[in-house]
Amino acid sequence: MELYELTIHEIQDKFLAGETTSAEVTASVFKRIDAVEKDVRAYITLMRETALAEAEEADGKIRRGETGPLTGIPIALKDIYCTKGVRTTCGSRILSDFIPPYDATVVEKLRAAGAVFTGKTNMDEFAMGSSTETSCFGATRNPWDLSRIPGGSSGGSAAAVAAGECIASLGSDTGGSIRQPAALCGVVGLKPTYGRVSRYGLIAFASSLDQIGPFTKDVEDAAILMNVIAGYDPRESTSVPEEVPDYRRFLAGGIEGWTVGIPKEYFIAGIDPEVEAAVREAIKVVEAAGARCVEISLPHTQYCLAVYYIVAPAEASSNLARYDGVKYGFRAEENRDLLEMYKKTRSAGFGAEVKRRIMIGTYALSSGYYDAYYKKASQVRSLIKRDFDLAFADCDCILTPTTPTPAFRVGEKTDDPMQMYLSDIFTISTNLAGIPGISVPCGFTASGLPIGVQFLAGHFQEGRLIQIASAYEKRAKIERRRPTL
Ligand code: GLN
Repeated sequence: MELYELTIHEIQDKFLAGETTSAEVTASVFKRIDAVEKDVRAYITLMRETALAEAEEADGKIRRGETGPLTGIPIALKDIYCTKGVRTTCGSRILSDFIPPYDATVVEKLRAAGAVFTGKTNMDEFAMGSSTETSCFGATRNPWDLSRIPGGSSGGSAAAVAAGECIASLGSDTGGSIRQPAALCGVVGLKPTYGRVSRYGLIAFASSLDQIGPFTKDVEDAAILMNVIAGYDPRESTSVPEEVPDYRRFLAGGIEGWTVGIPKEYFIAGIDPEVEAAVREAIKVVEAAGARCVEISLPHTQYCLAVYYIVAPAEASSNLARYDGVKYGFRAEENRDLLEMYKKTRSAGFGAEVKRRIMIGTYALSSGYYDAYYKKASQVRSLIKRDFDLAFADCDCILTPTTPTPAFRVGEKTDDPMQMYLSDIFTISTNLAGIPGISVPCGFTASGLPIGVQFLAGHFQEGRLIQIASAYEKRAKIERRRPTL
């Protein structure tokens, strides 16, 4: 096995045994990038030189026994976190040469933990999308089948882990952007509780929904990354001063005697038969591990998509007002006056999907419509959250498919926004309710495309998610296949 194929904890064991160095692991990752990146196109910006220097520095620390939780581990960052001195584009022309003057809190935390940064990964423009096709830098491809999308919006981060172009990565999830690409690329993706991980320095899409979380090759690595990134941040007013447990503690817990809810609204017509079969198989595995699976109902599920496509665009239209060509980012040239400068800058700086969202959001928030749309959507959002609160009174955890289908073809849904939006049908409710969710590989289709199963838990119960995901992973023994690129 090549070094780039290993997990964080496997590499750490090798460091401890003196069997490899961070310089070797990092070199292996960049060699892999050189071999496959032309096909996968997971990155917007590579940080090769600084990464190799960081790896040398990490090796010094390892020799002196001064290691942190991620010392010498090559990690990729979605291009949505501010990185001091390193271009941060959010997949958009309007930020295509924006160099932030500061690091996001998660970046600071990873750095302090000793991580080596490989680069900034591709994404849908401003994280609006489910396929990584709306990026102004072109689409990322699914490493399992290059004619297909990797999911989105964090498609670059998911594809990079699956293809071995980093050891682990971070993404962000507003309506599924970690869990959906994780499922479609055959890796683990965790969206924490709203407020668990600081959003300081995360470029905002929909501020009441956005969360940052890890992409990893297994559940243990997700626990390792959560230990580093979770926690209160005085610079971020919605981060919660709730104690952070050691998430690795949950890995061996088992789920004997647990009650796992299976929401009937998530097994609907239109779900791909191979996906449904794999998820039904996962239910059996969870039962064999000692849990009791019971059918439950989340009656307001049918409104999730409609509510999300009011709330998220409304917040986005407000957040994106700052890109006006004045303070930073792209500015159109040769303007007669200020108004023309705004118009030309925003017309040329944003892509079609972002403009669509800004228009929907502006409409929903406009005078006279606020009560009918945003207020109504917020009310229904409370009902969706209450569905989960009631369900978690009786269940330790909920199990659903992560996505209705495996990865679709590049270009298949780009002309039909509604079809694209439907790919998040099983992930959006989680963000509306603010609860955590994890997607774990649960098998492959006959043609070799990965499938994911999603576990959900109550607020701040990431430990519980790691516990069930780990119990499932151990028992299901999903073959550790790697894409052949
Ligand atoms: N696909 C959804 C959207 O386009 C979710 C994106 C996300 O989670 N960032 O809004």
